[in-house]
Order: sequence, then C-alpha cells, then structure tokens
Amino acid sequence: MMSRVEVVGGGLAGSEAALYLARQGFEVTLREMKPLRYSAAHKLPGLAELVCSNSLKSDQEETAAGLLKGELRLLGSSVLALAERCRVPAGATMAVDREKFSLAVTQAVEAHPAINLRRELVQDLTVLEQAEAVILATGPLTDPALLTTLAPLIGKEDLYFYDAISPIVDGTSIDRSIVFAASRYEKGSADYLNIPLDRREYEALLGRIVIAEKYPLRDFEEPRFFEACLPLEVMVERGAETLAYGPFKPVGLLDPRTGTRPYAVVQLRRERLEQEIYSLVGFQTRMVQGAQREVIRALPGLAAVEILRYGSIHRNTFFNSPNLLRADLSFGQEPRWYLAGQLSGVEGYLESTAMGLVAGKAVEAKLQGRPFVPLPRTTLCGALCAYLTDPGNAQRFQPMSANYGLLPPLDLPRSERKRGHARRALAELERWVLGQR
Ligand SMILES: Cc1cc2nc3c(=O)[nH]c(=O)nc-3n(C[C@H](O)[C@H](O)[C@H](O)COP(=O)(O)OP(=O)(O)OC[C@H]3O[C@@H](n4cnc5c(N)ncnc54)[C@H](O)[C@@H]3O)c2cc1C
Repeated sequence: MMSRVEVVGGGLAGSEAALYLARQGFEVTLREMKPLRYSAAHKLPGLAELVCSNSLKSDQEETAAGLLKGELRLLGSSVLALAERCRVPAGATMAVDREKFSLAVTQAVEAHPAINLRRELVQDLTVLEQAEAVILATGPLTDPALLTTLAPLIGKEDLYFYDAISPIVDGTSIDRSIVFAASRYEKGSADYLNIPLDRREYEALLGRIVIAEKYPLRDFEEPRFFEACLPLEVMVERGAETLAYGPFKPVGLLDPRTGTRPYAVVQLRRERLEQEIYSLVGFQTRMVQGAQREVIRALPGLAAVEILRYGSIHRNTFFNSPNLLRADLSFGQEPRWYLAGQLSGVEGYLESTAMGLVAGKAVEAKLQGRPFVPLPRTTLCGALCAYLTDPGNAQRFQPMSANYGLLPPLDLPRSERKRGHARRALAELERWVLGQR
C-alpha cells in the first residue's frame, strides 16, 4: 500500500514524527540510511542515536529543559516515553543508556504495523513523489548527496557550522582513591565521578591542551560551533578561567581527601546503567587521538584509564528556516514538504524531538483537511516554532535551544518567574491539546 506520509531520516525527530502519525492511524514510510551509510558521528545501526552526550538535560520543571519535557509528555511524545525507560542515574539530569534507547526506539518503530521502515539512503526525490506529505528530518549531518538534490527547495539558504564529541572511558580503570563519586551540593545520589584539580594541576591541563596537536578544520571556510558543546580547546582560547567557571566549575563539590573545594573539577557522567562507562563532561575536542590520550591520562586518577571512544569534531548543517517555512513547518515553496529536527534550526536532542512531534501534528491536520492551529507562544514548543518561522529572524538566524528568553515576559518577582512560566505554559498547552480533539 502507498504510504500517505514519507519521513526521511530515522533520528530523534523522524522517529518521533513517524511514531506519532502511525499512532493516529496513518500509513508511514520511514527511510533511514543506516546501516548502509553512516555520518561521521553516527555509530549505532539503530534509530534515534544520541551522537554526543547521553544527557537529555534537567528534569526539573523550573528549568527550560524540564519544562520542555513536561510539554513533550503532554503532547504525547513517544521518544521521551522510551527515554524514560532507558534512564541511567544522573542526579537531577535525565541521562539515558544510548544503546538501549536507540534499540527501544527501533523496536517500537519496527513493531508498529503502520510504519514501513526502509533502510536506504534518500538521494533521488522521485521516491517521495507519491506521498501526500513528506517530513524531512535528516539532521545536522544530512548526507551531502541529499543536500545537493534539495538545492532547488532550499536555494542558497543552507548554512554550516561545527560540533564536537566527548571521549568515553572505562570506569573500572579509574583510580578511585583520587577520583570521587558525588553530585553537586549532594543533590540526589552520587552519580558523577569527579576529578579534583588544584590550581597547579588545572594550569598544567590548560598548557597541555594548548600545545596538543589538533585535527585541521578542512573543507569549511568558517568554523561555527554549537555553543553548548564547544571544543575544549576553543573554551581554553576564550580565557584561562573559562573552564573553571564553565564545565569544570567546582561549586557544590568537596574533595573527600581534604574536605575542601578543589580549584576545578572534571566530571565524568555515566553512560550505561550496568556498565562502568563514563564520558568526560566538557571534554569534546578536535585534538588528535594521541594528544587526547596524553591529556586525559595526565589527569589525576586517570593515569591508567582505558579510552573507549575518542572525542571528535563534525559538520552540523541547518537551514535558514524563517526564509523557507510557514507556521506549520511546511515549505512555502513546496507545501507538501515539512522540515523537522535540528535541520530546521533548533539545537538539542529534545528540541529536535519536539519539532518532529510538531511536524507530525501539522501533517495530521493537513491529512484531516483542517487548518493547523499553532501551539501557544507561551510554551517552549510554540515559541521554538515561532522562532523558526518568523521571517523577521531570517537575517541573523542561528540555531536555538529551549530557553525562557523565548517566552513572552511575565510580571512576577524574579524568584517566581520560572515557575510561573512553567505553570502558564503547561496550562495553555493542555487547553491547546483539548482543542485538538
Ligand atoms: C556531533 C554532534 C554532537 C551533538 N551533541 C549534542 C548534545 O550533546 N546534546 C544535545 O542536546 N544535542 C546535541 N547535538 C545536536 C542535536 O540535538 C542532535 O544532532 C540530534 O540528534 C538531532 O536530531 P535529528 O532527529 O534532527 O537528527 P539525527 O538524530 O541526526 O537523525 C537524522 C537521521 O537521518 C539519517 N539520514 C541523514 N541523511 C539521510 C539520507 N539522505 N537518507 C536517509 N537517512 C538519512 C541519519 O543517519 C540519522 O539517523 C549534537 C549534534 C552533533 C552533530
């Protein structure tokens, strides 16, 4: 049977859109190029692969990431529900076992009778011609062959920047007489491992990073990094204290050997529930592998550490959506086509998931022959959509993650504002959801 909807790309956004539409009773074909072809960052054969950190950020409602999760739950996100089942302990943060998570999403897609999962590289758009709607969700590492075929649809509006990946190490090879388990301010259980650095050790680390050999930035004219995932060496270039005030900040942590706060702390976050595998927080880098080994093994307690995956750096593509999209995420020039995920200009795992879900809902409205009612701008999902589709943003368009600055102001004392935003967003979203029934 011909599918009414084609989804291209089985990442977070594409899987979310396909699962949503299938649940609503539409026939969907989901085309994913893995395992036939992998981007430079993808490694797992399954869908919804988290390519860098395994963290889906805070779960607390008064944070933007926590509110976004609350909204996704209200909107019925399948991907978030599956992530809940694959959690690993990470204090107030929601982190998942990435392999289990990818497997869970793959199994959910494969098991759904309305989804036809095809493992193929989409390059020639004629395979998509018969569908009533096409959702493009090929992500920040969209295969270049497809970008070429898409040129008539996106004109010269595609842009490029860079992202970086953190190394992963074997926790059993870490010296626990130096490295200690703790969460900041002892909030929740002691899920992180912490490498305490005194001032001399911190400065020595910076020195090693500065002289380390790095992979050159080839093929691209201008490096533009994902702000939340800056390479270590870029942070060092920004100033000697950037790391100590950024990812290596020691606040809320006491070295049990001395009972005092270290000068800086390198944290390790657990990657898997059953296995002692950790990623180095903030250690994403384009240092060559030999240099990474030297820098990591010079850290206190890591002299004999086994490095399971080295850090690396990759291209990240996004479109200038405000020039291209209408309020329902469809292309002005080609209304049968919708854009979802990071390619649309959001930044982050759950933001990408959210845009997959919104695109799914917009396609649902189209196929049911009713107008799509945009989500309230007081919600993070609605505000992100508005950001992507407001032509006024086209000139200086940059990828955006969920943050309270996107929401219309609230006249409340500062201390109550975030909670107020969260309450208003969830109440208005609930009304929106009821209105769709
Ligand atoms: C290196 C890197 C690190 C990142 N780190 C983080 C982070 O730590 N935290 C965070 O919140 N966000 C991070 N991001 C940003 C973003 O949240 C993720 O990239 C997220 O996975 C995007 O979701 P998506 O569904 O849009 O794309 P993806 O999850 O990348 O899914 C796209 C899918 O499309 C497939 N595909 C591509 N081209 C084709 C084609 N022509 N035919 C068929 N299939 C195709 C790919 O194989 C992939 O499975 C990172 C991005 C990059 C590039």
